[in-house]
Amino acid sequence: MSHYPMFADLGGRAVLLAGAGQVAERKAESLMRAGAAVRVVADALSPQFQSWLAEGRITWLGGAFQEDFLNEVFLAVAATDDEALNRRIFQAAEARGKFCNVVDTADLCSYIVPAVIDRSPIKIAVSSGGTAPVLARKWRQIIEMLVPLHTGRMAEIAGRWRGRVKAATPDIGARRHFWEKLFDSRFSTLAAQGDTAAAEAELAAQLAGYQPHQGEVVLVGAGPGDAGLLTVHALQAVQAADVVFYDALVSDEIMAVVRKDAEKISVGKRAGCHHVQQEETNRLLVEYAQAGKRVVRLKGGDPFVFGRGGEEAQVLRRAGIPYRIVPGVTAALGATAYAGIPLTHRDCAQSALFVTGHSKHDGEQPDWRTLALSNQTLVVYMGTLRASVIAEKLIEYGRSPDTPVAVISNGTLPHQSVQTGRLQDLPALAERAPRPALMVIGEVAALRDELKWFGEAA
Ligand code: SAH
Repeated sequence: MSHYPMFADLGGRAVLLAGAGQVAERKAESLMRAGAAVRVVADALSPQFQSWLAEGRITWLGGAFQEDFLNEVFLAVAATDDEALNRRIFQAAEARGKFCNVVDTADLCSYIVPAVIDRSPIKIAVSSGGTAPVLARKWRQIIEMLVPLHTGRMAEIAGRWRGRVKAATPDIGARRHFWEKLFDSRFSTLAAQGDTAAAEAELAAQLAGYQPHQGEVVLVGAGPGDAGLLTVHALQAVQAADVVFYDALVSDEIMAVVRKDAEKISVGKRAGCHHVQQEETNRLLVEYAQAGKRVVRLKGGDPFVFGRGGEEAQVLRRAGIPYRIVPGVTAALGATAYAGIPLTHRDCAQSALFVTGHSKHDGEQPDWRTLALSNQTLVVYMGTLRASVIAEKLIEYGRSPDTPVAVISNGTLPHQSVQTGRLQDLPALAERAPRPALMVIGEVAALRDELKWFGEAA
């Protein structure tokens, strides 16, 4: 069952309510609060219904349900203890194309009522689509704690100022930015203190002094794949962005949390297939920021670890564009943790070295002597294509051919796979490994057998 969420305006609209017991009372109350004109069908009215009737707040249609009652109402609620009658009401409503909810009977409902966090005019609705109301209520409790009570007051003031703010900031991006800044400013404190007049004065002052924002670039590390490893800053940045430049290493799960109406531009590159050259990416970052956009450059792992983040920041600095860096969980940390391989261990690895198997200038030789030292963990990024040279050189410079190794593919993602073996087997393991893949060389790789916990054969 897949429900379409919507909020209905019941103000002044007629609603048929069948039943006048305790459950019906609760329904009548919330319907009246929404401004509905409640018409009750019931043999007898409870004292509460009687007083509502006396106050003229409800209409009583008597005890006999007639299908014609449905013609004039917007929707119907059946809350009688007569199952057959409830079903009759539902079927008659269906025949007339009217919404009907038979209380606590999922298969006799064309609409359902969610659990609500009410900070009017802000309302947050939570529904499990009828599958697990208790779980929906649990979430409601959690959200209740997260949403400050004065949110409603802020929304109410904003509603009154919407037209004036729109007139003062015709550009839609600038306007969104104005509101975002306002809601995080002293305006929020004043609203929380209940001082509506002062909050409004603050809004007016900020609007009068408002300068359309300057563009900026945020270099954001997206982590190795699992969206749960995004930082809070990363999440906020991708949700505030006007435009997001992302590369092939950024997982679909992470792209799904990017603000829906942000422009998303792939500058994906993997060794061998450069979709957009680095110079072109640099040029676009500058161009969009100069146009006043909030630009996010979203990169796999950490932007400053083999991510060319340093080069991009240099370009931005030279162009005078403000930028921020949001670090991310780099593959050497994320993929090894999810593979159950500690990077250091007091028994066998006092240091860890992150190296790339792929350098900008061909022919550049790493310092093999340092890389081959024992008691350290070597983590090789972008190295699977050069695995045979790497294994050969490390052995030549003294690392034992029996040193444990692991090749971790798609680390932290549901399809993560890990292959383990000895240094002398590294070329064979790397050749088989799906990409992206990270090679880990050192005694710690053997600990995976004992420590593996995530996915596959764990
Ligand atoms: N800035 C990134 C690294 C980019 S270089 C970071 O900090 O992680 C790309 C290399 O990173 C890949 O060739 C691979 O070696 C490694 N890598 C990135 N994500 C990975 C993942 N989920 N699993 C395994 N290796 C990964």
